[in-house]
Amino acid sequence: MLTVAIVGRPNVGKSALFNRLAGRRIAIVHNQPGVTRDRISAPASLPQTPCELIDTGGIGEGADASFSDAVQTEAELAMASADLILFVVDARSGLTSVDEALGRVLRKTQTPIELIINKSDTDAQEDDGSEFARLGFGTGLRTSAEHGRNIQALADLVDEHL
Ligand code: GDP
Ligand code: MG
Repeated sequence: MLTVAIVGRPNVGKSALFNRLAGRRIAIVHNQPGVTRDRISAPASLPQTPCELIDTGGIGEGADASFSDAVQTEAELAMASADLILFVVDARSGLTSVDEALGRVLRKTQTPIELIINKSDTDAQEDDGSEFARLGFGTGLRTSAEHGRNIQALADLVDEHL
C-alpha cells in the first residue's frame, strides 16, 4: 500500500486535512499547538488510488530547544516511509523559521513533496502567500480544511503522484 505522509509544524491543520482526505474524523484537531499524541494512519477515501495516510502529529512537543530536533526526526521518518509527502504550512501565520528548518530537511529527499498552504480561507489569503515559494517546493496548493476549499484538488494532486 502506498503511503502519503502529512508533515508540518504544529497547528497548521495537518489533522484537519487528514480527516478531510480520510473522509472521516479520525485525527484529533487541536485548538492549541504543542499537544502531543501518537502518529495516526488511516486509508484515504478521497483520492482514487488506494493509499494510507499518515498524520505526523507527534512533532508538537512545544517550542523549546528540542523542538526543531523533533521536527527533523518526524520529517526524516516521513521521508523514509512515505511515497508522497504533503508539506503543510499556514497561510494565516505566514512563513516561519520552523517551516524553513523543515523545508531544509525535506529538500534532502527523493520522495516527491507537495507544498500545501492550508488556512487559505479567503481569496485575500490566496493573493499574499508568495513568500512560501522561498521554501523551494513551488507555489503550493492553497487549501482550507476548515471550509473545504480545494480538498478535491488536493485529492487529485495525490492521485497524480500515485
Ligand atoms: P495540526 O497541529 O497541524 O494537526 O493542526 P490541527 O488540524 O489540529 O488544526 C489546528 C487548528 O487550526 C485547529 O483549531 C483547527 O480548527 C484550525 N484549522 C485547521 N485547518 C484550518 C483552516 O483551513 N482554516 C482555519 N481558519 N483554521 C484551520
Ligand atoms: Mg495534529
